[in-house]
Amino acid sequence: MISRIDLRGSLPGDLRDVLPRAELDVEAALDKVRPICEAVRHHGAAAVRELTARFDGVEIERARVPREALREALAGLRPEVRAALEESIRRARLVHRDQRRADVTTQVVPGGTVTERWVPVDRVGLYVPGGRAVYPSSVVMNVVPAQEAGVASLAVTSPAQKEFGGLPHPTILAACELLGVDEVYAVGGAQAVAMFAYGTEECPAVTMVTGPGNIWVTAAKRLLKGLIGIDSEAGPTEIAILADETADPVHVAADLISQAEHDVIAAAVLVTDSVELAEAVEKELPAQVEATKHSERIAEALRGRQSGIVLVDGLDEGVEVVNAYAAEHLEIHTADAAAVAARIRNAGAIFVGTYAPVSLGDYLAGSNHVLPTSGCACHSSGLSVQTFLRGIHVIDYTREALAEAAAHVSVLADAEDLPAHGAAVRARFDWRVPS
Ligand code: NAD
Repeated sequence: MISRIDLRGSLPGDLRDVLPRAELDVEAALDKVRPICEAVRHHGAAAVRELTARFDGVEIERARVPREALREALAGLRPEVRAALEESIRRARLVHRDQRRADVTTQVVPGGTVTERWVPVDRVGLYVPGGRAVYPSSVVMNVVPAQEAGVASLAVTSPAQKEFGGLPHPTILAACELLGVDEVYAVGGAQAVAMFAYGTEECPAVTMVTGPGNIWVTAAKRLLKGLIGIDSEAGPTEIAILADETADPVHVAADLISQAEHDVIAAAVLVTDSVELAEAVEKELPAQVEATKHSERIAEALRGRQSGIVLVDGLDEGVEVVNAYAAEHLEIHTADAAAVAARIRNAGAIFVGTYAPVSLGDYLAGSNHVLPTSGCACHSSGLSVQTFLRGIHVIDYTREALAEAAAHVSVLADAEDLPAHGAAVRARFDWRVPS
């Protein structure tokens, strides 16, 4: 059900070449997405409606979800789902509130200061996927950091659903209502990103679009990046588990399966120095897969070449492998898991020990579940309050402080053959300004 990659003996020079990984050809999707974005740019709301009919099979009269539909969705939400969402929001707020950075003022010289001021972007569009599954948790994970960052204007969009009369799934609408978001659109795919980026008669343009989505959403974000800010691109989801002989194969198998449940191209990778554990997990997987609801999807993901069990000589090699892999989610199931976790440098999020599974992080740990995939964790972070803030340097110098720096500025300006730069400083004093 899952392949083995034996790296015992010696690790290859570039580990990334041998480790299993899903690939998503976003470049190829750009050609398909370009005309979609152009249509929205030139024809606004009419194009959004036409594209929704074409790709979602729903005729919508207007993209904006009426306020009443949000209230009704929350009223109709099952009480236990409401309670779980409220607790998820509460925990996410606790963590994200603490992420807010204070402005820092540095006195460089007497009379000369630089302040780094953290300012939220003005308006954000949050994409909540809705093609094959419903993700109210993604509403929480996008909205909470934006709100805690102090973003003043916030809109959510999610695909129109035929079975709900052209509105997004009611659980998504209910989550928006719980979070106090009243600007919601029933638009999905590339046309949703274009609607946010260019603006339409119904939806004012935003400055930033965040949130996960399928290949069309990702391609549109890549295409329109620059016109808008984006978070990191979300590729196929992935889990890596670093485990030794102390790990429980039942827990390890369950966590590999839970990640594979997302998508047939989701990646589930176990890295271990224990052949006994590898064999026990190989035995455990078929039984657990058969007993679960989405067994076909999961089996395909586990059999895919993006998944596998990687055998290594010891924990040191295991740490090297998972650092090279830079997983979106990394679980540590070893003796003294916290000490091993401290040695991890590349991961979207690290889940320490057997009682911190990824499923907890997906919904209720308080951490964010929008994380860098495809190895991007070696240079990027997950969604956070920081995603929505810009650090603006505020430079404040007195006449005396500028005078002290003037000679150096002139020298450096001349060295760069930009004499007018030096002259701009000298013009403030009694020195001769060259004509
Ligand atoms: P989606 O909302 O991303 O995409 C659905 C939209 O795609 C539809 O509204 C439609 O307009 C458009 N579309 C469909 N077929 C098209 C085509 N042939 N050409 C152009 N546009 C087309 O929903 P999805 O498809 O279910 O994908 C969601 C993705 O988000 C999954 O890959 C899932 O794993 C991922 N996800 C990631 C996270 C995370 O935190 N990383 C969280 C939730 C979901």
